[in-house]
Amino acid sequence: MQNNKYPFSVAIVGAGPAGIYAAEALLKRKDSIEGVDLSIDIIEVLSSPYGLVRSGVAPDHFKIKDVSKQFDKILSNEKVSLKGNIQIGRDLSIEELRLYYDAIILAHGTQKDRALGIPGENIQNSYTATSFVGWYNSHPWFFNIDFDLSGGKAVIIGQGNVAIDVARILLKPTKELHETDIGAHAVEALEKSNIKDVYLIGRRGPLQIACTDKELKELGTIDGVQIKVRKEDLKLNEEETKWLEEAPKGIRRNYEILKEFSEKEDVNANKTLHFRFLLSPVEILGEEQVACLRTIKNTLTGDLNHRKALPTEDSEIMPCEILLRSVGYLGEGINGLPFDKSRGVYPNKHGRVIDNGIKVPGVYTSGWIKRGPSGVIGTNKADSVETVQSLIEDVPLLIEHPKLDKASLWSSLKEDGIHITDYKDWKTIEQEELRRGEAIGKKSLKFRTQEEMLSFIQGK
Ligand code: NAP
Repeated sequence: MQNNKYPFSVAIVGAGPAGIYAAEALLKRKDSIEGVDLSIDIIEVLSSPYGLVRSGVAPDHFKIKDVSKQFDKILSNEKVSLKGNIQIGRDLSIEELRLYYDAIILAHGTQKDRALGIPGENIQNSYTATSFVGWYNSHPWFFNIDFDLSGGKAVIIGQGNVAIDVARILLKPTKELHETDIGAHAVEALEKSNIKDVYLIGRRGPLQIACTDKELKELGTIDGVQIKVRKEDLKLNEEETKWLEEAPKGIRRNYEILKEFSEKEDVNANKTLHFRFLLSPVEILGEEQVACLRTIKNTLTGDLNHRKALPTEDSEIMPCEILLRSVGYLGEGINGLPFDKSRGVYPNKHGRVIDNGIKVPGVYTSGWIKRGPSGVIGTNKADSVETVQSLIEDVPLLIEHPKLDKASLWSSLKEDGIHITDYKDWKTIEQEELRRGEAIGKKSLKFRTQEEMLSFIQGK
C-alpha cells in the first residue's frame, strides 16, 4: 500500500538523556500526529550515546546507569537513527540542518563550567570539576589531562552533587572503585594519590547546602574517612530554628546529617573530609601551581528562603596542593541561534526557541541547554515531554515547507571525510568495552578517545 503521509523528520542534537527522552516522547505521540510519517535522527558529537549517564554519573553509582537499558529501546526503534561523530556547528551548520529537517530539538547539554572569575583561577593544579569527572569517566575530551594528586590537601569549591561526587572519588578506597566502569587510568592515579584531606567549601551555610541528602549521607559510609563539620557552623538562631521546622524535607535531612557528622569521631580514619561554610573564594595563590586559596568570610542576608552570601572584612587562607572548581555547568549555544549567555541557555517558551520574543520556526530545545544545569537524569523526561508537546502543536505549520532529501546531506559529509557512526557501531564499541573490562575484572573498560573508537569500528 502506498504511504501518502508527509515524511516528517526531526533532528535531535545530542544523544544524552534529554535528547533520548525527546525521541521517546515523539514516538509515544507519533500516531496522534495526523498525516505525517515520523522519522527521528539523533545527531551526536561522539560515537557513544547516553551523555551524562555515561560520562557524568559517578562510576560507583552504577544503578543510575541502568537507565541506559531503557535508552537502548528508544535508540533501536525503527523510526530512530543514531548519527554519531557529527558536530553541529563544526561539521554541519544549523542553517544547513534546517534545510533538511522539519524540526530540530537542541538537547546538547552544557559542556563548560561556570567560571569563578577570580585571580589565579587557571593556575597549574586548579582544575574544573567537570574535567575531573570527564577524566575518571573516560570522556574523550579529557583523556590527556594528568591530575596531580601528589599533594596532601585538596580544596573543592562548591557543595553541589558534583562536588560531592568528586570528594567521594578522591577519598574512596580504590578497591571499591576498581570493579566499576571507572577508567583504569583513573584507578591507577587514585591508587598513587597522597590526598589525605579534602575541603568542601560553601559560600553559604549548612541550611543552603546544594547537594541532596542521599548523596550527603553516603559520604558518611566511606571506609577510612572521617568527616569534620564545625559545631559552631551548625548553630542556628531562633528565626532559623523555626524556619527549619517547616523547611522542605531535603533541607531538614541535610542539617540532621551534618549534625551527625559533627558529633562523630573515627579514630581509625586515615583521611578527612572537611565541610567549611560561609567562605567565598577570592584568589588562588601560588608561584607555579596552586599553593593556597584565599577566601572571604561571609554572613547571610535576606529572606530565609533565598539567603544570600554577604562578604565581611575577614579572610582566611587555606593551604592546598590541588583545587577543583565545582560551581555549576554553563551551556554554550550553536552559532546562528539566539543564546542567553549569562544563563547559558537557549531563550525559549515551553521548549520553542525564541529570538527577541519571536519563535524561531522549527527550532526547539530540551534539557540543561533549555532550563540550565539542574535536576537529576529523570528531570529531563518531563522537560522533553513539554518540548515535544509544543513541537506537535506546531506540526501543521511546519509541514508547509517541505525539506530536502537527506541522502545528499550524508554523502556530502562522507565526502568531507566524516565517518558517521550508527547504533550498530555503538553496540560494537560497547561489546568491546565490556569484553576488555571483563578481562581485568571490571564492569567495562571504556575507549578513551574518539579516534580509538573509530579505528576499532573500521577494523571490524
Ligand atoms: P549545583 O547543584 O548548582 O551546585 C553548585 C555549587 O557551587 C553550589 O554549592 C553553589 O553555591 C556553588 N557556587 C556557585 N557559584 C559560586 C561562586 N561564584 N562561588 C562559590 N560557590 C559557588 O551544581 P552541580 O553540583 O554542578 O550539579 C548540577 C546538577 O546536577 C544538580 O542539579 C545536581 O543535583 C545534579 N547532579 C546530581 C547527581 C546525583 O543525583 N547523584 C550527581 C551530580 C550532579 P550556592 O548554592 O550558594 O549557589
